[in-house]
Amino acid sequence: LESKIKELERRIPKKHPDVRFLNYKNRKRILITGGAGFVGSHLVDVLMMQGHEVVVADNFFTGRKRNVEHWLGHENFELIHHDIVNPLFIEVDEIYHLASPASPPHYMYNRVKTIKTNTLGTINVLGLAKRVGAKVLIASTSEVYGDPTVHPQPETYWGHVNPIGPRACYDEGKRVSETLSYAYAMQENVNVRVARIFNTYGPRMHMNDGRVVSNFILQALQNESITIYGNGKQTRSFQYVSDLIDGLISLMASNYTQPVNLGNPIERTIYEFAEIIRDLVGGKSKIIQTPAVEDDPQKRKPDITRAKKYLNWEPRVPLKIGLEKTIEYFRKELARSNHSQRN
Ligand code: NAD
Ligand code: UDP
Ligand code: UDP
Repeated sequence: LESKIKELERRIPKKHPDVRFLNYKNRKRILITGGAGFVGSHLVDVLMMQGHEVVVADNFFTGRKRNVEHWLGHENFELIHHDIVNPLFIEVDEIYHLASPASPPHYMYNRVKTIKTNTLGTINVLGLAKRVGAKVLIASTSEVYGDPTVHPQPETYWGHVNPIGPRACYDEGKRVSETLSYAYAMQENVNVRVARIFNTYGPRMHMNDGRVVSNFILQALQNESITIYGNGKQTRSFQYVSDLIDGLISLMASNYTQPVNLGNPIERTIYEFAEIIRDLVGGKSKIIQTPAVEDDPQKRKPDITRAKKYLNWEPRVPLKIGLEKTIEYFRKELARSNHSQRN
């Protein structure tokens, strides 16, 4: 009978992934705003596996319940449908503030809302941190450097941003978000960390995100032409999402309070990138050029000296490995959406 029970137990799928048991002293209650999004949901996974209590506050603008569904019902997990432009009163020890659309088509869709999320939303998060004495990490971006005149970009570079261009709602919103963080730190003693995140990719990126990685992979998988905006000589550096999550957690744990670049310093042109993806997918897509987009930064590459020195962090996942995992994810997503369209 016992072996039958064991066999049955083996066959019943486990409801939740295994989490580590943390004693009461080490366990934290952690809020992740934007935790149902691409980056946020990977952060949820790691913090949950470490045994912390995790609260996600998300308005589901670009995030999805599906990204965190494997934790629904777990006693350490809570999902709140909440728009961060409105005040939030809860008790937490740490806050990762990730709520904000991140891809150009998403943040340009409602520019005023993007500004509100990054200004009013950040004020609410900092007000919450102030009231409960929580440590707070703000997800900033390499876009604070704009179309940079210094290459690669160190954290000491002040940036080159068009304040009224199509990207301004995001770039300037994030710049204010940083300014607010240091104002609350100086004036109200809030314990802040600022991560300047560079282009990140991986599974759970939104299918219609419009960013280069998802566009190129989807085009290659469907044997459509790969669309390069402009001549393809502009450069980016791409980091795999698990490297970013390691960096965010190390930054939160460190005593370093100045902004820190988190990105992969290996730089490629967008044209090279299109070729790499086409070859990895193994399809027959043509690579074509379409008109350039306005204010597109021409070069971007992080100087990660600070992260190496103060966090002992650097990216580890090679582009090919990361892209293979991402391609696999999109392959499944495509099959899933084709299947649901047929039924
Ligand atoms: P994402 O769009 O997948 O996730 C953002 C999440 O925030 C979504 O779940 C969305 O629903 C939520 N959100 C948006 N507005 C909100 C609001 N007003 N109230 C509550 N929730 C709201 O994007 P992502 O790539 O996961 O980005 C996460 C964070 O990292 C963002 O702050 C982004 O600016 C920053 N970042 C990302 C990258 C990147 O390459 N992915 C690069 C630089 C910075
Ligand atoms: N706030 C919040 N949760 C809290 C505490 C504050 O959302 O737990 C909001 C509050 O509504 C305010 C903002 O954070 O709009 C800034 O708070 P702060 O204390 O700095 O400002 P004040 O309330 O004095 O205007
Ligand atoms: N890009 C492209 N084709 C696409 C999407 C993007 O050539 O289908 C280019 C875009 O012009 C930019 C780079 O890829 O130079 C990265 O764009 P993305 O929107 O991913 O992120 P950004 O770094 O500009 O925020």
